[in-house]
Amino acid sequence: MTYSVVAPVYNESATLPHFYRRVTAAMGELGDPYELILVDDGSRDSSLETMRCLRAEDPRVKVLSFSRNFGHQIAISAGIDAAKGDAVIVIDSDLQDPPEVIPDLVAAWKGGYEVVYAVRTGRKGETRFKLATAKLFYRLLSRIAAVDIPHDTGDFRLMDRRAAMAMRGLREHHRFMRGLSSWIGYRQTGVPYVRQERYAGSTSYPLRKMLKLAIDAMTSFSYLPLQLATSFGFSIAGLSVLGIILTIILRLTNRTVAGQATTLVAVLFLGGIQLIFLGVIGEYLGRIYDEVKGRPLYLVREALGFDEEGPDPR
Ligand code: UDP
Ligand code: MG
Repeated sequence: MTYSVVAPVYNESATLPHFYRRVTAAMGELGDPYELILVDDGSRDSSLETMRCLRAEDPRVKVLSFSRNFGHQIAISAGIDAAKGDAVIVIDSDLQDPPEVIPDLVAAWKGGYEVVYAVRTGRKGETRFKLATAKLFYRLLSRIAAVDIPHDTGDFRLMDRRAAMAMRGLREHHRFMRGLSSWIGYRQTGVPYVRQERYAGSTSYPLRKMLKLAIDAMTSFSYLPLQLATSFGFSIAGLSVLGIILTIILRLTNRTVAGQATTLVAVLFLGGIQLIFLGVIGEYLGRIYDEVKGRPLYLVREALGFDEEGPDPR
């Protein structure tokens, strides 16, 4: 058995040496050969130098460095593209996902599961806002998504070689890795763990990025936002038929509805609804445009420890 541990890194120089130490200890427990693939997602601090130092001391450490910041989900994808192991483990490098859980994931994998995701039974050191929005997001997503995406999971998971190959075949640009990892199917199971506080630094997922990830997830796995326009259209059309009948009756009995305000409200209401759905179509259209352009998912500036130039970003 060989393992690939994939960790995305964005400005984690303070955490990296501790992360390396704890991964080494956890993997040592398993006793099988492994590689640790650190993907530098365009860090602005000294993360890359720290990675080079780690690699100089331990050739099991491999380094991929992007030409700029491409985002967490893309960094994970690049690591999976490059992984050679029989099992690929994806783990955050900020020590929020404890490396000590890896042997549990491996045990479930050896029990015959091809995708083993880690389920957060608790989250330490997160703001109440983040907890509440995350909870709402997972509930909403499972209502509308076409695939079953397990609640309260992150990207911390183990994938069998076959599952990792399947993930490698999915080249969409707006990637929601948790959803894709459910979409591929195979035998899947969850292992509980408690998500820890960040070792150092602060989250690089502000509200703006969380919203983008949420919209990527919704548009990748559901047409419901588009279909809502149809149901809205039918209800408003139905309502207006009632309005027509009412107006005729009022006319026949020589009464009228007060004019200007009613017209204004109706026009503004419908104008608003139409603009909202134009925006929804725009979200999908923009994503189609991004796919059609066919740009590579990421660009690698430096690949240490890989043959040739590193993984294929297409
Ligand atoms: N990360 C990354 N690129 C980014 C943002 C984050 O590779 O643009 C990495 C980061 O180093 C960490 C993981 O992705 O290992 C999760 O990011 P973060 O801890 O900021 O998110 P949170 O855990 O707060 O959701
Ligand atoms: Mg984190």
